Amino acid sequence: MALLSLRFAAAPAPVASPPARRARAATSFRASASPSPAVGRRRPQNVPGDFFVDHRCIDCQACRWMAPEVFKRIDGKAAVAAQPVSEEDRIKALQALLSCPTASIHTEKPAKEILQVQNMFPLPIDTDLLPGVYLCGYHSQDSFGATSYLITHPDGNILVDSPRYTAELANNIEKLGGARYMFLTHMDDVADHRKWAERLKCERIIHSDEVESVTADVEWKLTGNGPWNIGADFELIHTPGHTQGSVCLFYKPVKVLFTGDHVAKSEESDDLYLFLMYNRQPVSLQLDSMRKLLKLDFEWFLPGHGHRIHYKDVHAKDSAIESLIANYTS
Ligand SMILES: [Zn+2]
Repeated sequence: MALLSLRFAAAPAPVASPPARRARAATSFRASASPSPAVGRRRPQNVPGDFFVDHRCIDCQACRWMAPEVFKRIDGKAAVAAQPVSEEDRIKALQALLSCPTASIHTEKPAKEILQVQNMFPLPIDTDLLPGVYLCGYHSQDSFGATSYLITHPDGNILVDSPRYTAELANNIEKLGGARYMFLTHMDDVADHRKWAERLKCERIIHSDEVESVTADVEWKLTGNGPWNIGADFELIHTPGHTQGSVCLFYKPVKVLFTGDHVAKSEESDDLYLFLMYNRQPVSLQLDSMRKLLKLDFEWFLPGHGHRIHYKDVHAKDSAIESLIANYTS
């Protein structure tokens, strides 16, 4: 399917020197639901009981929004603040265990439901409001714990950013029809993109400004300022700021914007939040990119990190964006 390039008439953005990239972990890892030497690494901030978080936690937030009744941020990292009581909370905690990018969540006793929980991924987010939109789980440390998503669509499914590669997840994605495209929001969240492309035979998409040696063989490299389209339902919005070539995916029929690291929800409030400490570009450029989003008819932010946001309508979304811009320009 052709990608149509419709350029904005925007002036070229100022280019700042990119700060040193954060080191990528080269080791592979696997979540564990059985007793292991990690028991000795139990953070003292965990409450007593079966579930616990170890010291290797990178504070990626994933467990806290996946199982908020169980995991909290204590002394700068995740910890079990309350052991799950209901079966629902236990399943959510096990979903977080499998998704933890550093395999830092454990149970003292083997979890008998772990195979059942493995087969829940990709996980539907909201079958009524977001039909065909799934969480992939299995966050990768190589993507700094970022969330990835699967969209099922009659013209071909789309993976949004790269989960950690596992055969179990690949099998389950294939049962949902595989993926025709893997859309990569930016250079930080590419993780196991090559393994996924080889397994699913999907075409990868990334902006040319994000291409590094590990992504040199990506099939579709976007150039210019877009927007670009995948069929009638998807629009790719160039949102430089976090990185020069950050791109958001707008899924029009369900009014969702997949943002990568362009914007997220504050963990402390309902406000929108920018990861300024990780920005490669000036905040003024990122705010210009936020202004672009005012023109779009969507109600959901599905970010690379942290909680999803659903506004009651597009006006509430626009108010939140305007508040964010005001906060950073006042
Ligand atoms: Zn990033």
